Amino acid sequence: MAVAAARIKEAKKQGKAHVAAIGDPDDPCQIADFYIDAFLQDARLMNMKVADEFPANTPRASQHVDGMQAMIAKLIEHGHAYVANDGVVYYSVESFDAYGRLSGNTLDRLRTGAGGRVRQEDQAVKRHPGDFFLWKPDPSHIMRWNSPWGEGYPGWHIECSVMATALLGRDQIDIHTGGEDNIFPHHECEIAQTCGATGGEFFARYWLHSRHLLVDGEKMSKSKGTFHTVRDVLDGRVTGRPVHPAILRYELIRGHYRSNLNFTFASLQQSALEVAQLRSAATLFAQQAGDQSAPVDLSHPVLAGFAEAMADDLNISSALGVVFDWLKKPKGTPAVKHAVLEKIDSVLGILRTPAAGEPDVLAAGSLSRDELDARLQLINEARANMDYDAADAQNQALRDLDYDVQDTPACTIATARPIVVDPAHVGA
Ligand SMILES: [Zn+2]
Repeated sequence: MAVAAARIKEAKKQGKAHVAAIGDPDDPCQIADFYIDAFLQDARLMNMKVADEFPANTPRASQHVDGMQAMIAKLIEHGHAYVANDGVVYYSVESFDAYGRLSGNTLDRLRTGAGGRVRQEDQAVKRHPGDFFLWKPDPSHIMRWNSPWGEGYPGWHIECSVMATALLGRDQIDIHTGGEDNIFPHHECEIAQTCGATGGEFFARYWLHSRHLLVDGEKMSKSKGTFHTVRDVLDGRVTGRPVHPAILRYELIRGHYRSNLNFTFASLQQSALEVAQLRSAATLFAQQAGDQSAPVDLSHPVLAGFAEAMADDLNISSALGVVFDWLKKPKGTPAVKHAVLEKIDSVLGILRTPAAGEPDVLAAGSLSRDELDARLQLINEARANMDYDAADAQNQALRDLDYDVQDTPACTIATARPIVVDPAHVGA
């Protein structure tokens, strides 16, 4: 919080507009509001489903401190937590047999320091080096609440156990997600707290942990200038040209969640090309079908193949392979093809047209989207009539207007050279 406050003060001094909403950078609630708003804006731009239509389902930890205190009291009552000599309430990891089951950081390994994060100064009062605090009395802390254990603040694991069980209305949940860095200690501690309080055998049926995003093969780093926010990419600060949100979305979802995604200039360009290909096919099918959709379901081989790949631990690369194989020679009536692609996009979420004011890199060239579509239709018609000279002439005309033009078996696609900038901008 202190770091955020310092950074915001600096930005205010420099007159940066985006921090204008923060009146008092020393007020943690204003800082939190600022980042929540920024997150929700980015999430909507990226076509993510956010739960903000049910504000109570986008919970804030500060509104659930009562619940945290109730859970801590229950943990003390069940013998899973204790008040140490320094007045701090700790969770006793030895009281929970399954501790370490998720991360492999069992008590033996923690005692020898294998799990890291064991701070020497706390060791004297703790029963086990792996014990973590649930409530810390500290009347001078910037955020503090009254509690049976003195005025202070909660540990950072307890909020998740409390909010998940309170808002989902059950002690055991189906799916819990997070980044790989959350596995230990955070999720291990969540399990210990929730099961300790509820007496349940498990907390989440499935844990999905995504690997770190890499930039040019390395972890994002502020000092190396490879720490990019969603806005940096969309606004063109990374590539020199604005990037359509659908392209960044596609770039981020097209790799398997359990493998590191390596964000590079080349992969972003490849994503731009594939998004353009999918969009052009969708436009073509919709035109051919007169916007009619036929009812399709999983009995369609493409949808069945796509669904089967996704059901295999979200194997998106193989699912996309099914789609692109099909696009090489799409079978079926236009209405069926149109419907199949729409159904696939209900998962991918990249075909929607950008809202007013959103950058549309796919149409960032000198032509409007309609003009471009009209020209592409001429090319497709010429190809269908095997008038290749006319098609080539049209292709060249588009290239002259700074478009990358590609003939695919299904149709011709054109992308306004969107991300063609100095590759040194990515990463370096
Ligand atoms: Zn959590």
